Amino acid sequence: MKNQSKFPILFLQPVLKQMVWGGSRLRTDFGYESEADNLGECWGIAAHPNGDCAIKNEEFSDMTLSKLWKERPEFFGAYGTEQFPLLIKIIDAKSDLSIQVHPDDAYAQKNENGSFGKMECWYIIDCPENAVLVAGHNAGTAEELEGMVHDEKWDDLIRKIPIQKGDFIQIDPGTVHAITAGCLILETQQNSDITYRLYDYGRMVDGKPRELHIKQSLDVIQVPAKAAKDSVIKTGGLPENKMNELISCQYYTVYKLNVSEKCQISHYGSFLNMSVLEGSGTVDGIAVKKGDHFIIPANYGKIEMEGELEIIASDAK
Ligand code: ZN
Repeated sequence: MKNQSKFPILFLQPVLKQMVWGGSRLRTDFGYESEADNLGECWGIAAHPNGDCAIKNEEFSDMTLSKLWKERPEFFGAYGTEQFPLLIKIIDAKSDLSIQVHPDDAYAQKNENGSFGKMECWYIIDCPENAVLVAGHNAGTAEELEGMVHDEKWDDLIRKIPIQKGDFIQIDPGTVHAITAGCLILETQQNSDITYRLYDYGRMVDGKPRELHIKQSLDVIQVPAKAAKDSVIKTGGLPENKMNELISCQYYTVYKLNVSEKCQISHYGSFLNMSVLEGSGTVDGIAVKKGDHFIIPANYGKIEMEGELEIIASDAK
């Protein structure tokens, strides 16, 4: 079947990142090639100075995603930003990540050399039984927050919420958050790397504690936190062969798509990111499998998919 677009589906070479808290599941579960045994992140769709995916398609083989974004904007649709707007990661946390918070655009532009802030969201690919994530805090006022931080009352301050495989969580800028040991997560986020570390469990890395950013954290933490019950969306039982919207915010819309046997979706508007989290099959006749990340060009039209595939997709606003 011929689609209306003159651009092909774009396949990306992930950038792998070693982290002190990383594990080996990106290699063993997802098949990414690496010798390292502390792989923390796979940047599957990224055009950031700290990680810029090479394009696998032969016709663009000398290009990175950021280069294509600059030189072939028509591929992505009418889009006004200088930078590719989103960043898609798979995160394997073998141990707890530090407790952190991100600024919004206004704070980051003013205090971080014109950078963007960070809205992010997590799809829980896998987690231990009875797992919890850190999302939000228990302080009622800014004074109470400051007091608890200065008195190091971390257990009282930090709010933990129970999660299960298949849950989806939006983390607004200003939300205290942390991924915990054993969680495997797909993260969709604004294309930003600005993180303020509030607490690191007093851990030492190479004999010294990692830097904390208490002032910036207190500047940006939202008080009171959003209600815990408004934070988690369950994705079990969603219809198959359909783009199910999980969230839509000012930066992105995220979808879950479970392909079973055969499906057809139509795509108009800006480009669409897709990450295969489970299974194998084809997309317009091209073989895809777990761990693949690709971009459907703007106004691509109809897409034929076959096989058994679990996909998280996103488009940018
Ligand atoms: Zn974060």
